[in-house]
Amino acid sequence: MNRSLSSRPARLALLAFVLAGGSAFAAEVPKPKAPEAPPFEVAQPSPNLWYGRFGITNCSWIDTGDGVLVIDTGATALDAKNLKAEVARTTKNKPIRWIAMTHLHSDSNDGFSSFLPTDATIFVNARATGILATSFAQGKTKPPTVIGVSDRIALVAGKRAFEIGIPSGNAHTAYDMYVFDIPTRTVFVGDLVTPDRCPMLSDPDSDLKGWIGILERLDSLGAQGLVPTRGNPTTAASAEIGKTLRYLKSMLGFLTEKKKQNAPEARLTGELASEKLGDYCPRELSAINALSVYRRILNDGTTVPGNAASGPAPK
Ligand SMILES: [Zn+2]
Repeated sequence: MNRSLSSRPARLALLAFVLAGGSAFAAEVPKPKAPEAPPFEVAQPSPNLWYGRFGITNCSWIDTGDGVLVIDTGATALDAKNLKAEVARTTKNKPIRWIAMTHLHSDSNDGFSSFLPTDATIFVNARATGILATSFAQGKTKPPTVIGVSDRIALVAGKRAFEIGIPSGNAHTAYDMYVFDIPTRTVFVGDLVTPDRCPMLSDPDSDLKGWIGILERLDSLGAQGLVPTRGNPTTAASAEIGKTLRYLKSMLGFLTEKKKQNAPEARLTGELASEKLGDYCPRELSAINALSVYRRILNDGTTVPGNAASGPAPK
C-alpha cells in the first residue's frame, strides 16, 4: 500500500539540531526504539553499485575504484551503522570519499551525523549549505568539506563519471538533488519519484511547477535504472518518471482551476474524487496532497513556499 505520504513530515530543524549536537540524537529528541534485528536488504544491480533498504529508507553506494560514493545516509543512527557495515563488507573496506544527500527529510538523512567526523566530501543542494554551515559551526566534530550544487555539475570520482543536479527552485522540498551514474544510466532521485508509492506534496516548501520541471529534466537524461529514497527501485525509469509527471500535472491543473474559482477548501476533497488523478495515489492521500498545496498556490499555479529554512516566505 501507498503510505509514504502521511508518516514523515519535513523535519529539517531536526537535522540541524542533530548536527549541532554532534551526536546521532540529542537528549531532547526522543530516541527511536531500535529493533532487535534491523531489517535491511542489499541488491547489486550492476558491478560496483549497490543499494539497500535500511529501515524504511533506500541508501545506495558505488565503488568508484578509488573510494566509495554513498547516496543518502538513512533515517536513524542504527540505519547508518548498518549502512556503513554493508558498505565496508561489499567494497572490502574501501573508504567513503563522497556522500550525496538527495534532500534533508529526516527519513532520508537523519543518519548523516553518524558519519561524522568524516574525510568524505559532502554534496548537497546549494540552498542547504547554510543549514549545514550553521550546524557545523555549533557542533563539536570537525566539519567536512561541503559542496553545494547549483544547477548541475559533472563529477569524476575515481574511474566513474556522474552528473549531479538540482531543480531550478523548490520541488518535493526546497533542497532536492539527484545523482546520475552515467556508466550504468542509473539515476538516484530521492523522493522526486517514488515508484509504487504516492508522491508526498505535504512538505511546506513543495512546489508543483518546480517538481514538474525537474522531472522533465530527469526524463531527458535517458536513465534506465531509478533508485528512490522511498518505494521500489526500478529498471523502467522513464515509465515511473512519466507516472509521477502525469499525477503532478493533473494535481496542478485541478488546484489551479479551483483557486481561480475561489473554491472553499471544504469542497476540495469531494471534487477531487471525480478527477482523473490516475491510479497512482489512494484518494485519501491525494486529498492530503491537495489540501497541503491549495493554501499556498496562486491563480497562476505558482506556489508560495511555507517555512523554508533558507528564508521567509514571500508576502
Ligand atoms: Zn522526502
